[in-house]
Amino acid sequence: MTSGAFAVVATTREVLDRPGLGPHLLAPWERRRLDAVRVPSRRDDVLAARLLLRLCAARLTGRPPEAAGPAQHCPECGRDGHGRPRLPGHPGLGVSLSHADGLVAAAAGPGRVGVDVEPAARRPGPLPVLRRLLPEAELREAARDPDPGPALLRAWVRAEARFKAGPPVAEPVLLLEWTDRPRAAVAALAATAPPALLPLAALPGDAAPATD
Ligand SMILES: [Zn+2]
Repeated sequence: MTSGAFAVVATTREVLDRPGLGPHLLAPWERRRLDAVRVPSRRDDVLAARLLLRLCAARLTGRPPEAAGPAQHCPECGRDGHGRPRLPGHPGLGVSLSHADGLVAAAAGPGRVGVDVEPAARRPGPLPVLRRLLPEAELREAARDPDPGPALLRAWVRAEARFKAGPPVAEPVLLLEWTDRPRAAVAALAATAPPALLPLAALPGDAAPATD
């Protein structure tokens, strides 16, 4: 068990190759959502991210992965199945997930958490859009860099993680940002509890095997 918040970054393949992990661990509404994703590689990314989220939630709560599923409710349209994920029965805990082109990330912790992962080669833009979304100070700093692309990407990933952690309430979020060189990924974790990065191997490994 960890007292702070933590995030794990992996490739989609690393997660799907783990024994015992598969669509059988997802709730029926999650499987319906997965079936609606037409592009196979993107479907794999969504599946891997949702499985990684379960493993993070299992580590945080001590529950088995199959019993550590999230609920999602969208305050904009009032429907279930999308919107910020939460853990039913654990109102004090936060969870978050992210996926992008063969990379996945998930996070869990006390309070609020938000995680984002992007391929290191991705370049966010265009600039007018970034101006609306990123803090002015971060844009200015990135512009001073001889090669602003990577700095803009890191600013983007931090902004996404902050956004996913939710609107600022009483407690400010702490930010952890890192580059995962072997996986060519840039990721950030925003959390109200002290944020840490964990390896995939730190997550519970013995999910219930498929019965069908
Ligand atoms: Zn909605």
